[in-house]
Formats: sequence, structure tokens, C-alpha cells
Amino acid sequence: HSNRTTAERDIDSVLHPYTNLIRHKEVGPLVITHGQGVRVFDEAGKDYIEGLAGLWCTSLGWGEERLVQAASAQMRKLPFYHLFSHKTHDPAVALCDRLLGMAPVPMSKVFLAGSGSEANDTAIKLIHYRANALGKPAKKKIIAREKAYHGVTVATAALTGLPFNHRGFDLPFSGVLRAGCPHHYRFAQPGESEEAFSTRLAAELDALIVAEGPDTVAAFFAEPVMGAGGVIVPPAGYFPKIQAVLDKYDVLLVVDEVICGFGRTGRMFGTETFGIRPDMMTLAKGLSSGYAPISALMVNERVYGPVAEESGRIGVFGHGYTYGGHPVSAAVAVETLNIYAERDILAHIAKVGPVLQDGLAAFRDHPLVGEKRGIGLIGALELVADKAAKTPFDPKLAAGPLVVAKAQNHGVILRAMGDSVAFSPPLVISEAEIAELLRRFGKALDEAHGDLTR
Ligand code: PLP
Repeated sequence: HSNRTTAERDIDSVLHPYTNLIRHKEVGPLVITHGQGVRVFDEAGKDYIEGLAGLWCTSLGWGEERLVQAASAQMRKLPFYHLFSHKTHDPAVALCDRLLGMAPVPMSKVFLAGSGSEANDTAIKLIHYRANALGKPAKKKIIAREKAYHGVTVATAALTGLPFNHRGFDLPFSGVLRAGCPHHYRFAQPGESEEAFSTRLAAELDALIVAEGPDTVAAFFAEPVMGAGGVIVPPAGYFPKIQAVLDKYDVLLVVDEVICGFGRTGRMFGTETFGIRPDMMTLAKGLSSGYAPISALMVNERVYGPVAEESGRIGVFGHGYTYGGHPVSAAVAVETLNIYAERDILAHIAKVGPVLQDGLAAFRDHPLVGEKRGIGLIGALELVADKAAKTPFDPKLAAGPLVVAKAQNHGVILRAMGDSVAFSPPLVISEAEIAELLRRFGKALDEAHGDLTR
């Protein structure tokens, strides 16, 4: 096969995630060969500004040599060891230590895994285990929100609130409850303020818990800013109002910081940006800047205490991944956190975040743009057929994917969630690179406007 291209061999051999497999044969893949800074390059040498940091993860951009060094040194010294049955190694301990020191609220222990899905799956299993440990086996239901994204394992896909992730999988299963999506533009009633909308969502949550029976509801999962659901920034007052309801019924709060963690929203954690008090927090993506697969679940004493006690009484917490806390990944994560601190990544985001947000806001006047959303270095533009009436485009037109495809032609990689186009560039992006990204995007938007109104 030596004379066949990577793209041709891909079509023959790769089963792609999140890909229309029929269309894939026709259009083929974009083959990315390397990256530098905020850019990646294809086989022809064309450069693309990565407007989504890969999958919201490559916070330090491409070509960060210190991470290469951290990985190769660890690979040489101890390429593999695990944390099962009383074993440990320094990279894992250093990382857990470090994360507890950074935690925005008091946390007790850290569980390491390989992906965001695994961290959230572990949270679900801890919730179940804890309910049994407390002698409350009925208190196991979990509430997640419409448009939530918590991963794709069987259990986390059940929590995920996107029909796309349920279709074809007999999901969600019983025991998963659904709360409303806090998207003011789409779901507020006419004239309802953000505060009033938040108050209503909290009242609806209260009613849901009461209807199900507070003795059956264990936990509520939430992303601070919903990512894959379309970059939904919570309305004013949302989390404090939700938290008050959860406290009232002794329901745990699991905050999924997989996207928001490590600066994305302008503070180190989305938890801080929105004044949340989680019992568990899940972290991934920016934890290693995407250079190595790793995730973490932090739990407070309220969660850890009963689990540890039960483990002594009737048996071990029977859960763990071969690659959980993988030494190479852990070493890369520690070095990533060192770089964030040394380069004061939060100060950089404070400087360039407003450049991205103002640049996106400037598109509000564009005929295709219904809403601009965002905070820190995450944002989205929602495309609509009619701005005044907020009418969405006919899904058959695939307006979001059209804009994204045109943006790719113009050298910027973005992601469409329905007709919302998401922006989540590497955190190290400069003001000039943001300007270039938006300039390339603007051309694509204008072209799409021409196509969609023809
Ligand atoms: N949680 C959130 C908020 C995510 O955005 C993602 C992935 O995009 C996940 C969980 C799942 O992480 P992974 O794809 O690493 O399993």
C-alpha cells in the first residue's frame, strides 16, 4: 500500500468517532501532520488556526517542548506503573497533591483516570457505592441537564443530554433525571430576566426532586459553562439558586470541569467563575493540555468518608483503570500545571479573553448571527434564519456545519453544535492570532450568508 495516500488508507481502515460514515467515504478525512503554536498543518502544508484547541484541550498549543521532555524523561524512568492494591509512584502522588492544593473548595482525595468520560463514570460509581455505604440504597438517582455533555461511556452517555448521544443506544436508562438547560436566549419566557429565569429553573429542580422523592435523588451533574451543548454560559444567579435546592434535599453536586478547568472561563476553575461549591469535580483536557490522556476526579470528605469506611467494612472499592494515573500522563500533567503557573496563564487570559469576546460580539450585527455567548476564552455564535424572531435555520440546511466547512477552507478549524459555532482556542493565543482567526472566520460567515440567502 506504499503508494496509497493516508486519506485512502484511512477510508479503508479507520472507524471514525462522531463521523457520518457514509459521507466520510465521499469526502475523506483532513490529514493533519503537525502543529506549532495555535496552528496545525495538513499534508499540503496549509496552516489552520485551531479555533477549538483540538477538542477544547490543547491549552498550551502545539510544539510545547517542555511537555515533550517531561514525557520522555518519565517514559525512560518508569513508563508504566499502576495504583492498584497499595502501589504508587511519584508522578501520580505529585499530581494529586498539586490538584488538592489548587482546589477552589476543600477537597479530600483525587482519583486518576484516562479520560473525561472515565472520571465522570467514576463519579457515578462513587455515588452508587456511597448510597449503599450510607445504608440508603434507594438514594441513587442522578439529575443531569438537557444539552449536558458528560461523556460517552454507557453511564456518562446516559447523563449526556444530547439526543445525538442516545439515538441508537437505548439511552438514557432509568435512574437518570433531566433538568432544564439554562440557556436564556432559547428557553427564557418572553420578558423574563436572567435572575427570574434562574429562579424558575431552581423551582423546577425543586419540584422534580419532590416529585421523585428526595430519598431517591443522590446527585446533580453540571458543567459550569455547557460546552458541547453549545457553549451555554449560565444566567445570573443560576448556580447559587440551584445549589440551595440541592443543599435542601441532601443532593450532591458534581461539577464537570473537563472543559472549564484550568483557565478556560478566566479563573482557574469554572467553579470559581460562577461561585459553585461542588462535592466532586472532574478534570481532563487542559489538565495535560491534551498532550497525554489523563483525567482526575476530586472528591470532598462528604463523599470520601462513607466510601472509605464501607471499603473497610465489606470490601474494596472495586473500580480502577489500568491506565489511571499513568506515570507518563501524570508527569505531563504536572509539567502543564507548572507552565500555567510560571507563565501566569490567568493573567494572559485576562488580557486576550476580552479581545476574543469583543471580536465575537462584533458579529452580533451580522445577518446570520442570533446570539453571541462566551466568557474568558470560550465562546459561540448561534446562527439564525431570522434575527428578530430567533427562528432557527431548517436543519436540512446544516447552516452551522456549512460555516465550519467554509472556515476550514479559509484556514480556521472550528466546531458546530447544531447551528452554534464554538470558539475555544489554545489559551496561549495572542491578540494578533485572535484577530487573524476572526478575520478568516468572518470571510467564511459572509460566504455562508451568500449561500444561505441565495
Ligand atoms: N465532560 C465534558 C464537559 C466534555 O466536554 C467532555 C468531552 O468533550 C467529556 C466530559 C468527556 O471527556 P472524554 O472525551 O475525554 O471522555
